[in-house]
Amino acid sequence: MKISGIGPTKICFLLSVLVCFVFFLLLPWRQHGLPKLHPLLSCDPSCASSFLEMSRQVTRNYHAAPNQNSSFQAGRRRQAEPHQNAKPMDESHEKGDLRVDDLFIAVKTTKKFHKTRINLLLQTWISQAKEETFIFTDYEDQELRKKAGRQMVNTNCSAVHTRQALSCKMAVEYDKFVQSSKKWFCHMDDDTYLNLRVLLDLLSAFQHNTDVYVGRPSLDHPVETLDKLKGDGSSSLKFWFATGGAGFCISQGLALKMTPWASMGNFISTAEKVRLPDDCTIGYIIEGLLKVKMEHSNLFHSHLENLQKLPQNSLLQQVTLSYGGPENRRNVVRIASSFSLEQDPSRFKSIHCLLYPETSWCPQKKRLFS
Ligand code: UDP
Ligand code: MN
Repeated sequence: MKISGIGPTKICFLLSVLVCFVFFLLLPWRQHGLPKLHPLLSCDPSCASSFLEMSRQVTRNYHAAPNQNSSFQAGRRRQAEPHQNAKPMDESHEKGDLRVDDLFIAVKTTKKFHKTRINLLLQTWISQAKEETFIFTDYEDQELRKKAGRQMVNTNCSAVHTRQALSCKMAVEYDKFVQSSKKWFCHMDDDTYLNLRVLLDLLSAFQHNTDVYVGRPSLDHPVETLDKLKGDGSSSLKFWFATGGAGFCISQGLALKMTPWASMGNFISTAEKVRLPDDCTIGYIIEGLLKVKMEHSNLFHSHLENLQKLPQNSLLQQVTLSYGGPENRRNVVRIASSFSLEQDPSRFKSIHCLLYPETSWCPQKKRLFS
């Protein structure tokens, strides 16, 4: 085709189309100030399809969550949720712009679970976040102290399953988090497997200096209680709370706003005044008093739900998993594994070896070197 045959007007038109196209490609640079192409443009076809699947999943996850509230703010959710396949964390433990060392992870435990539950966690996910995980217990166990060092926190709370004893531990967790100046506070029970990569994926969608409270509601309706801290105590207050058994996270910005009701032991008196359990008191302070909406996520799992129902191909995309207590030992996730149910009754070792096959005691590794 001869250029002279097109004419200057058409050339101008073609040039302006070209300029618009180039501008469109560079748009994400302009928005984020980063020298990055749009994710769909910067990856190969398989990556592009997994990005699309991720985006679809985000929509599914957040719409499938029970009683999803409308607290998402435009622009606050900056990134899609968990990747289809677990990818190795790089050396700096980074995921997006959030790193493992931005987290403060509190594990609540008690004397009788040190040898069983805590040892299993130390062997599995805690090994990937040793410096960031603190074990809040009620007994100065020399054996655990040797293993965990300063990461073991003796709360001096009593070793009983009462509201007072549990809120005593939460009060110590809260104060220690505030002292740490970390970006995120995440609370876990000692029968929880935490998938750090997926957690970082989830949290990197939020800003730590805004108000974020994310977890799984334990009920399908908000709690209603008499407002004992404000007014004359006769009006009622409705609020959601994240069940502690599934784990939950709070941003630094929000945690600081909780200070009047949570710091320096005030958490215990708040829980006493409203006569609520520790996790419920957290929801009371955040939703009830501070009027900040909880982000409902179905990526957190406690043994209150039927864990056998979780699809096997989704297990590595969950933030937390749990396992049944003595009342229902068979409530564990179903996963194909070379560990038998006797060797790995909680299935946490099986999950861990899929996520970190390089771990010395994982079967793949054994096969390579034996
Ligand atoms: N726990 C505790 N003190 C106790 C009993 C339990 O701190 O006297 C902790 C336990 O380590 C776990 C959480 O409370 O992190 C929940 O306990 P468990 O899983 O035994 O009971 P659930 O409430 O899940 O049925
Ligand atoms: Mn439990």
